[in-house]
Parts: sequence; structure tokens; C-alpha cells
Amino acid sequence: MVSSTFAQLNRPDGGPDETELRPQSLDEFIGQERVVENFRIAVQAARMRGEPLDHVLLSGLPGLGKTTLCMLLARECSARLHVTSGPALARPADLAGLLTSLERGDLLFIDEVHRLPVAVEEYLYGAMEDFVVDVPIDQGLAARTVRLPLQPFTLVGATTREGRLTAAFRGRFGIHEKLEPYPPSHLVQILRRTARILRIELTAAAAEQLAERARGTPRIANRLLRRLRDLAQVRGAPSIDAAIAHEGLARLGIDDLGLEETDRRILALLNRALPGTLGLKTIGAGIGEAEETIEEVYEPHLLRLELIRKTARGRELTQRGHEWCVAHDAIAEATDES
Ligand code: ADP
Repeated sequence: MVSSTFAQLNRPDGGPDETELRPQSLDEFIGQERVVENFRIAVQAARMRGEPLDHVLLSGLPGLGKTTLCMLLARECSARLHVTSGPALARPADLAGLLTSLERGDLLFIDEVHRLPVAVEEYLYGAMEDFVVDVPIDQGLAARTVRLPLQPFTLVGATTREGRLTAAFRGRFGIHEKLEPYPPSHLVQILRRTARILRIELTAAAAEQLAERARGTPRIANRLLRRLRDLAQVRGAPSIDAAIAHEGLARLGIDDLGLEETDRRILALLNRALPGTLGLKTIGAGIGEAEETIEEVYEPHLLRLELIRKTARGRELTQRGHEWCVAHDAIAEATDES
């Protein structure tokens, strides 16, 4: 069986493929209406006051559209966009050069902002609040710092783990928005748009099947669509229809609920632990995945489906999860016997 993991499907760096699929204006951005509306108001108000937009904190699971929205915000504000990420800013000095190069109204996007080292985060405070930075000059005995004024700018921080941010840092963002997983009806619209861009014929039934199994995530929906395009091409099929979707998803090991092999292994592990719970470390060791990957990629969908729950001691299977395991084992046994 061909298999693919959601860690691959959902990898944060979507690769060059993603660029062509990104919506080019806020009007093209599908769903998340409340967030989009709030952004429109904030942008218009800032423009009326002739001020840069307040600092923005965008949170949500990987692949929900944080980077895309930031690009669209820059476009709406007619602002230049500078892109970096938490892990790329190891020292305050890395940030100082960037901040001093900003022009009035520029947007600075820091992806994975929860991964900024503490010293860099604290260095940002003055820049965010008072638009000043202390830049070290000279070394040794002559070492000192000079305070430099910055042009007023907008920091847009994106995070998959808002809870990891300190209250002091979070409090310095004036606008907080959270992206939620998309309902299937919105994913169908996103898939139709992607199919148009990629010039693939996608039937309504196939779009619905894909949308149901894309874990509420546009990035996953788009990747699944590309894999089905490969299959349709190899089969010489003129379009992606329900039959191609069914075969393709089965080949990728993705079931009706959008679960794939690693999800099933997590559920099986928790089922064996019943009536007990398992810590994240134990689950990670059991299935050979990093704890962070489990928390960001697998667990949110299992929690949303109410197959597992978080407790003070760890993770535990719900009654629904247990029933799923029993039914799944029965199917597996029947398949083995036949
Ligand atoms: P994040 O930064 O949250 O990980 P991205 O902004 O990189 O997510 O989005 C991943 C991909 O999903 C983008 O390439 C874009 O094509 C698509 N996408 C995300 N949200 C939407 C949306 N609301 N409408 C259309 N496409 C979207």
C-alpha cells in the first residue's frame, strides 16, 4: 500500500507549490469570515487615522492560512512585507538589523513566534511598544549601547501554540485572531478553486469526499487533490471523480474520518492502555513521532472527533474512541481471514 504521513502532508513549509495556490486578495480568501471582517475594519480604521496597523497575533493549527492572511493584510495595507520565523532569530542582533531596516508602515511577519528565544522576545518589547531598539556598539571595555528610534511598523506573529507565549508578549499584540478548522463546505470551495488553478476537472462528489477527509485544513485538502491528480493522470481519467477519489484516498491510507495510519496507531496504543491514560512522551515513543508533531498534527483532529480526551494525567480514549477501535479490529480481523 502506498502510504503518506500527515506530517508530510501538513509540513509547515508548504514548498514552492503553495505559492500559486495562495489567494491573491482578501475577497479570494475562503471562510474565516469573522477574522477577515475584523481585519477589514482594523485596516480601514488604521488608514483613516493615518497610522500603521496595530500588532497582530494570529494563532491556529498548521495549514489553516496564517501566512496567507498575513500576505493579504500587507496587500490591504499597501505595505511592504518582511518574512522571518522564530527559530531564524537566534540572537537579538539578528533582529536589530531587521528592525532598523523597516520603513514606516511595513509589516514584519514572524512565523512560529512561540519559538523565539526569550532574549529575542524581550528585545522585541521596546520595539513593539515604543518603536525603539538598543543596539550594542563597540566591544570589550568600550562596549555600550545606543538607543535607536524605529519607524512605526506592524508585527504580525503567527503561532500554532498560543499557550506557549508569555502573557507579557501576548499582551503587546493589539489584535488577536484565531483561525479555526474549516467546515467541509468551505473546503469544497477551496478545492474547487485549487482545481481551477491546476486545471483539473473535479466532480462535486469527489470534492465532497476530499473535504470530509482533509481534517478541516486547506493545506491538506490541496495536497490530497494533487495526489489524486497524479492517480487520475496515470489512469488516463479525464477527471477526478468519486471512484478516483475513493481509490486514491484508500491508497493513501485515509479513512472516512480523515484518519491515517499514525492516528490509528495512536488510538490502538490508547486502547491497550485502557482504563488508564498515557503521557505524550509514552505515545511519542510508542509510535516513533516527536511529541510536538503529535500535539500539532495528529491530536487536534482526534480531539475534535472526540475519539480521545486530554486529562490531567495525559491522553485517554473516549467511549467513542473505544468503539471505533473495536469496530476497526473487527474489520481488520475479517480482512485477515478472507
Ligand atoms: P499556515 O501559515 O497557517 O500554515 P498557509 O497560509 O501557508 O497556512 O496556508 C496553506 C495553504 O492553504 C496555502 O497555500 C493556501 O493555498 C491554502 N489556504 C489556506 N487558507 C485558505 C483559504 N481560506 N482559502 C483558500 N486557500 C487557502
